[in-house]
Amino acid sequence: MAITPDTEITYLKGVGPGRAELLEAAGIKLVRDALWFFPFRYEDRRHPARIAELGRFLDTPVLLRGRVTSAVARVSPRKRMALFEAMLDDGSGTVKLIWFNQRFLGDQIKVGDRLAVYGAPRSTGMRALAIESPDWEKFEGSEDEEGAIVPIYSKIGNIPPKALRKIVDVALETLPQIEEPLPDDIRARLGVIDLHTAIRELHQPNELTPAFLASRSDAHLRMILQEFFMFQLALRVRRAREETRKKSRRIVITEELREEVKRILPFKLTTAQKRVLKEIADDLVAEAPMYRLLQGDVGSGKTIVALIAAILMIRNGHQVALLAPTEILVEQHYQRIRQLLDHSIVVAKATGSMAAGERRTLMSGLDTGYIQLVIGTHAILEERIRFKSLGLAIVDEQHRFGVEQRQKLFAKGEMTDILVMTATPIPRSLALAIYGDLELSVIDELPPGRQRIITKVRESHEVDRVYDFIDTQIDEGAQVYIVYPIIEESEKTNLKPLSQGFESMQQRFPNRRVAMMHGRMKADEKEETMQRFKRGEIDILVATTVIEVGIDVPNASLMLIVDADRFGLSQLHQLRGRVGRGERKSYCVLLHEPQVAPDAKDRLRAFERSKDGFEVAEADLQTRGPGEFLGTRQSGAMRFRMGQILRDYDLMEKARDLAIEVTNADLTRADAIARALLGVAVPAATARD
Ligand code: ADP
Ligand code: MG
Repeated sequence: MAITPDTEITYLKGVGPGRAELLEAAGIKLVRDALWFFPFRYEDRRHPARIAELGRFLDTPVLLRGRVTSAVARVSPRKRMALFEAMLDDGSGTVKLIWFNQRFLGDQIKVGDRLAVYGAPRSTGMRALAIESPDWEKFEGSEDEEGAIVPIYSKIGNIPPKALRKIVDVALETLPQIEEPLPDDIRARLGVIDLHTAIRELHQPNELTPAFLASRSDAHLRMILQEFFMFQLALRVRRAREETRKKSRRIVITEELREEVKRILPFKLTTAQKRVLKEIADDLVAEAPMYRLLQGDVGSGKTIVALIAAILMIRNGHQVALLAPTEILVEQHYQRIRQLLDHSIVVAKATGSMAAGERRTLMSGLDTGYIQLVIGTHAILEERIRFKSLGLAIVDEQHRFGVEQRQKLFAKGEMTDILVMTATPIPRSLALAIYGDLELSVIDELPPGRQRIITKVRESHEVDRVYDFIDTQIDEGAQVYIVYPIIEESEKTNLKPLSQGFESMQQRFPNRRVAMMHGRMKADEKEETMQRFKRGEIDILVATTVIEVGIDVPNASLMLIVDADRFGLSQLHQLRGRVGRGERKSYCVLLHEPQVAPDAKDRLRAFERSKDGFEVAEADLQTRGPGEFLGTRQSGAMRFRMGQILRDYDLMEKARDLAIEVTNADLTRADAIARALLGVAVPAATARD
């Protein structure tokens, strides 16, 4: 049987049912899938070093080839660790190889075996050299891979590397049957080489040039740009399909309306707010539905911008929904918006804790169009909530919501305009990657008069001085948050550390009014605590991360975060944003135990130094990777095989620009290209691990 790209991998020689299952689990079902299974590194076996000359390569990884002359498993006398030691002889000399805690090696490496090893030689004293934990591979008899550049693939189960390479080799024979999915003009615009050359080169490179090793060779660029372009094009096409169905509402922004907005505003908008507002207003007026991400650091004034957009929509006769992640935040938005608006706009709240009667009133108010602005939690998304004419949906703190919720909102109106706000300052590169189909507006300026929050990292034995500082601050009239690292995710979350913390604060500050708040309290209890804190009736609020999002109490100017190393940097930034919201000089103290890992300390120090959320977000992304940074829900959206969002940021932009152009020029063609790309490419189900 002739093998084609669509042959099932089981039918290859040397692939039995067992291996086929392992391969399939790794995303390799068809022969063509193996083509996209790229090596994660390469070994240049053309130039192994001579053991006699190893002294020149101290602490530098080097390739050696030789025969095993002894192999012993033993237990280290002092640390009682399992060791496996082998001597490697290449004719010029011998070197000791040592592995730790790998008991099974005794079964795999035997005297007489030929090995290629890769690792850094270290001096073990007295002119003796050893290589600790080298990568190794056996040569079973044949020497045909000597003198070649050998691709190293991620391990798949117990399939020997050599067998894996063989499978890829067979797959490469079918390469000519794979169609080039990029038309010539697009290839030219992207400036990339053809697919066949790229794939072959990635598996069997001719030279390991610096560009190649940096994943910037022509072959790499071809694959990265292809996957980025495919991603962007698919998003654009999907969006354009939505856009071709035009909004039927016409929004007009009259001089009168402008005047009304000016009257409502209690302050002058910053330049950034004005710019962003214009971008949004243009979207509202346009025929295509808006799909915009409004990004701005905590306290940059997103809410007021969103509110103005809401007024523009409402005065044109349509309804607006504002979706917030927590009831506290809903309440806060509600209060603030009530203060700003006169009674000519009907505003309502929608939360899960509404009584049945309230819910009925709400439902009929929305259905008849009497309620013009609804501010609510997920409760808004319920099936039975219907609008007369939902024109605009605003999603606050979007990182708490998923794409499905966005879609639900969209479906509640007729081509609803969508404005998504986030205070998690996603680096632009990442925003492009995940929200390639959203337009991006950034408020990159804080309202005037804001002061920088003084941030300090302290070890737990210094806590008494921190408490003294809290005392003097309260004497001066400040209010304080004390945050415990309890991230409330489920009913089972253990709140004990919080109540213990609360009790010890009551003891330490007997003359202060101390209260506790967490997500498991009843909505009205939370609300009452919050209101008391706002009115200044509580000095110290001991809380979980419930206060992370959006809480606004200008007089609260000191925050103590306990075991701060347990938080991600972006989350610390969110928390810190709760202080520094008023006139008072504000402080954030990060407490940690002295024994936390050095890199955890480094992270906290980086945070201590950082100026704004963008710096924090970049740092967070570097240390934790995009998946964790965004929470698991969204990470699936951006797994690329070869592209890396931060490193390849410029390529993502290039792909995006071209995708927009191609889609605008000819939607049918763009659709066809997107399909061809999706057809030929293999999604990164099992991206590098
Ligand atoms: P965000 O939602 O972006 O975190 P908010 O909209 O809550 O920020 O604004 C933070 C605070 O700054 C609020 O008290 C708001 O009234 C105030 N504010 C917003 N814009 C301005 C401005 N242009 N000038 C002065 N104060 C402003
Ligand atoms: Mg906000």
